[in-house]
Amino acid sequence: MPDRTDLLVVGAGPYAYSAAALARDNGIETRIVGLPMAFWRKNMPVEMFLRSGPDWHLDGKGEYTFEAFFEDRGLRPEDVDPIPISVFLDYTEWFRGRKRLDVDERLVTGLTKPNAGFVATMDDGTTITADKVLASPGIGYFLNLPEWYAEVPPARRSHTCELVSFDALAGARVVIIGGRQSAYEWAALLCDHDAAQVDVVHRHSTPTFAKVSWGFVDQYVDQTLAHRGWWRGLPVERQRAIAAEFWQVGRLTLEPWLVPRIPEAVVTSHPGCAVVATAISEHDVTLTLSDGTTLTADHVVFASGYRADLARVPYLGGVLDRVSITEGFPTLTEGLETSLAGLYLTGFAATRDFGPFYGFTKGCPSAAHIAITDMLG
Ligand SMILES: Cc1cc2nc3c(=O)[nH]c(=O)nc-3n(C[C@H](O)[C@H](O)[C@H](O)COP(=O)(O)OP(=O)(O)OC[C@H]3O[C@@H](n4cnc5c(N)ncnc54)[C@H](O)[C@@H]3O)c2cc1C
Repeated sequence: MPDRTDLLVVGAGPYAYSAAALARDNGIETRIVGLPMAFWRKNMPVEMFLRSGPDWHLDGKGEYTFEAFFEDRGLRPEDVDPIPISVFLDYTEWFRGRKRLDVDERLVTGLTKPNAGFVATMDDGTTITADKVLASPGIGYFLNLPEWYAEVPPARRSHTCELVSFDALAGARVVIIGGRQSAYEWAALLCDHDAAQVDVVHRHSTPTFAKVSWGFVDQYVDQTLAHRGWWRGLPVERQRAIAAEFWQVGRLTLEPWLVPRIPEAVVTSHPGCAVVATAISEHDVTLTLSDGTTLTADHVVFASGYRADLARVPYLGGVLDRVSITEGFPTLTEGLETSLAGLYLTGFAATRDFGPFYGFTKGCPSAAHIAITDMLG
């Protein structure tokens, strides 16, 4: 007998947990596959802090929230600010336990839809058939890298999600490309681990370091839930204004707790600069900046973020010709369904059609609601 389920949720990150839990709460027979919180465990440093607070959570029913976890553990938000990644990971484990989510810890290697239903091939060669599939591939397949990245020898380069331990770079000269939170947090982590020199190169001006409130996001998520297709119905200027608000709060303003960890004696910012030339020697890499500065480094860190390109999600290869894509993003219905009936996509892949907040955990409960409501018809 082949393994079958009504709904297969692929990916075991925050969006997948949220959707699988709400599907089960609504009586949908659900399987969830993937390595639990693997992107957070393998591609983020254990010493990282969250930018978001205890008010962002995973439970579409609003019961097993991050705040409920704080209460359960006797934690006070003021004592855990900023929130270490370990506390968030403990929350996700607690959520999984409370919701009785049994994650099938295998990876999907391929997905096809030979008839009305889907067939997912697993990494052990077995298959699971499902009426519907909800995929939450996150951002791990979507690294954004400049063209000259390939000129840097592999041993001398890393994207931030590939550099999660820093001891090997003690005493090293490091150039970081990018100027957002991850660029400056990785600079701080390198300083914590005794890097000799860190240069941070970015096109925009030097960011401000100040405490920000993400409270403005709440109204947008509320609107998304209250009005089907809210984001796509907004005039382009309004969408741009909201995106600019995210840019201002999330990208041009960085966490103030970074400041004492990026001493001027070690960290130099190069605002308004791009890399215009590279020279590689046996011992190091020399980058020439658009203002004429040259920087010689032992290692180059690309804090250059993520860019959606659905074709890079390997397990979707077998259905991709039936999935409509716009600028790398799936074209989604108001119910988060792709143009291939029964295939849903959430998280970062949904930001084009649902708004920038779907790139953060803040969007998890609402994404779960929208997709599950759509499935229930
Ligand atoms: C440095 C950094 C800091 C961040 N800080 C915050 C923060 O403070 N607050 C916040 O809200 N957001 C933060 N984010 C954004 C955060 O990553 C996303 O909000 C969140 O991870 C999105 O969840 P997801 O479930 O869509 O994706 P992911 O968490 O990336 O999960 C995707 C899952 O899919 C699994 N998968 C991949 N391939 C397969 C396969 N073939 N079969 C099965 N499973 C597969 C992966 O293993 C992974 O577990 C941060 C991101 C970065 C890079």
